[in-house]
Amino acid sequence: MRRGVLLVISGPSGCGKNSILQGVRALDPTIGYSVSCTTRKPRKGEEEGIDYYFVSSEKFDEMIDSGEIVEWDQFVNNKYGTPKTPLLKAVAEGKDIMFDITIPGAMKLKEFMPEDTVTVFLLPPSLDELRRRLVERGTETEEQINARLAKASGEISQADKFEYQVVNDNMEECVARIYKILCDRRDKVNNL
Ligand code: 5GP
Repeated sequence: MRRGVLLVISGPSGCGKNSILQGVRALDPTIGYSVSCTTRKPRKGEEEGIDYYFVSSEKFDEMIDSGEIVEWDQFVNNKYGTPKTPLLKAVAEGKDIMFDITIPGAMKLKEFMPEDTVTVFLLPPSLDELRRRLVERGTETEEQINARLAKASGEISQADKFEYQVVNDNMEECVARIYKILCDRRDKVNNL
């Protein structure tokens, strides 16, 4: 049996990662999401074990010490990490999983399981368009939008660390391109 593919998507805030992941899953519901551990408090509507495993800072550190977290990163005062056991199980059972994790997290996962991981950087069509989307979303102040855009340019400058770069200018096309990357990798894995 083939091993599962680990499809990692990173990209600046507001570039549409969530919608793209949902779109890929709608095309193929057999693909799973990796459920991360976080020290962040649950937001309204988020469920334990579905959106995240919500853990205390002490528990998170214990998991790092015991080797149960394969990669982790700090994001706005909270820690986020990928648990090892479900990941190894999915790969061994031939189940494909998608990840929405930070750039350093994507690099660490690639290092941990290089043959099984495929890394994709999602780009906004332009910084102007990213600004337009953030303004339209209406959840940030002008100052916060400027801070996110500054962070986004730093992130975009790291896009060449990824195996694929996909521009999210048209949602359907972008979903199709990312799904194709996954299918090509499945075939490659099959041929090993
Ligand atoms: P949020 O708090 O909005 O759910 O997530 C904040 C950030 O944490 C997002 O950019 C997301 O990509 C990142 N993130 C979520 N889970 C993980 C993880 O397990 N590892 C890493 N490195 N980043 C994560």
